[in-house]
Amino acid sequence: MRLHHGSWATDVVRVAIAAMLVSANSLPAMTAEESQPVLERIDAQRPKYVEIASKIWRWAEVGYREVQSSSLLADELESAGFEVKRGVADIPTAFVAEFGSGKPVIGILAEYDALPGMEQEAVPAKQPIKSNKAGHACGHHLFGTASTWAAITVKDEMVAKNLKGTLRLYGCPAEEGGSGKVFMVRAGLFNDCDVVLHWHPGSENRAGLETNLANISGKFRFRGKAAHAAGAPHQARSALDAVMLFAHGVDLLREHVPQETRLHYVITNGGNAPNIVPDFAEVYMYARHPDPKTLDGIWSRIEKCAEGGAIATETTRSLELVGNTANLLPNDAIAKLLDKHLRAIGGVTYTAEETAFAETLRPSLLRPELPPLTEASQVKSVSEGQRYGSTDVGDVSWAVPTGGFSTACVFPGVPMHSWQAVACGGTTVGHKGMVIAAKTLTLATLELLTKPNEIVAAKESFDKRRAGKSYQTRFPKDQRPALNYRDNAAVEP
Ligand SMILES: [Zn+2]
Ligand SMILES: [Zn+2]
Repeated sequence: MRLHHGSWATDVVRVAIAAMLVSANSLPAMTAEESQPVLERIDAQRPKYVEIASKIWRWAEVGYREVQSSSLLADELESAGFEVKRGVADIPTAFVAEFGSGKPVIGILAEYDALPGMEQEAVPAKQPIKSNKAGHACGHHLFGTASTWAAITVKDEMVAKNLKGTLRLYGCPAEEGGSGKVFMVRAGLFNDCDVVLHWHPGSENRAGLETNLANISGKFRFRGKAAHAAGAPHQARSALDAVMLFAHGVDLLREHVPQETRLHYVITNGGNAPNIVPDFAEVYMYARHPDPKTLDGIWSRIEKCAEGGAIATETTRSLELVGNTANLLPNDAIAKLLDKHLRAIGGVTYTAEETAFAETLRPSLLRPELPPLTEASQVKSVSEGQRYGSTDVGDVSWAVPTGGFSTACVFPGVPMHSWQAVACGGTTVGHKGMVIAAKTLTLATLELLTKPNEIVAAKESFDKRRAGKSYQTRFPKDQRPALNYRDNAAVEP
């Protein structure tokens, strides 16, 4: 898919946009005194939203299975007066909640999927929740809740101040590997959006101007012939052998790919019993690189590893493309706006109880030196650079001027995708970061709704960064989201 934004570059269009937006609302920026009551209202709502986040944390539903989590947020928005469309983009757990009408159209992203195998109680020692098979190791329970909290607060302000424009909360499933937003972009759900805001839980407070890695992921499946592993091995062809050759090929390939490449895999099916030669095996592979075109080349070499594995073992192979996300396109103007509000709100400080929790938890981390806890109280400078994760927000950022930030929802030094991150997210440590996010999103969205020049600046930054580049997803037009990608193949699919 190619998106057409080259035409934004003409001055005529830019002036027309500004005029259109100015005619909607044009108010002076909110002073600190004016924003104070809004922030106080957010504080007053804290118990309600902590309860929502805690429910989503406890449910810990994985990608495309976020039935309760997405419904809870959609229901909240609906009862607050938003019009909610559920099951958008062929995804049962995706939704769009809208309030108001006309220009400008401001979108806020919400995520809510958990990670498999990361179940963990909110305690400072490794202790899985026995009834769960997943955990919020990326803090998406906080992400979805803070975004919803901000959207409802902004909507209340729109009503109170009679602000024109459209506010949208995008309920985005399966960020972790499922590429949910890519299908939402493809469905045209962002086409009329002027600016999109997002945030992410992390270990520091910082507006984002970094880019990250484009990502391709898929499940390579091999099929052979089963037979008794001791009695008739010559009559068998092992699908597991093919997976192992594939994996060895990938591990050798690591030495011969560009420096910034990341390759990782898990074997999701390696057979059922040692005395049966496996006739089916599956490996779930990720490849990442900052540049999508370079990544395409790396991926075709990974496909050759699969081909080689199949040839050598006389098995057959297939590939299901599960995920493909673009690198983030940073936006200078939005980063500046978010940085301003994040700075005005400030970071977090920890109570004696939270500090004691940190002192028990942090020695479990494999890191020679841990940053001081006081780092969470700072708002760090916006910096350009390369991050090594990936997100389907990347695909949104190529379609609409998009900006985000992170807040300290885990202690400094705690990596995301760890049990320690799940533990922090289930306590007041995570909730404090969520409050900062809700406040920052609220103030930034209000400014975008009332200051048309901010949107013009965001579009200018977008055009500048996007100039000469194009966006394309690998997903064929007719490919539907892999709604069952978290159901690891226990039997041949
Ligand atoms: Zn994550
Ligand atoms: Zn995440």
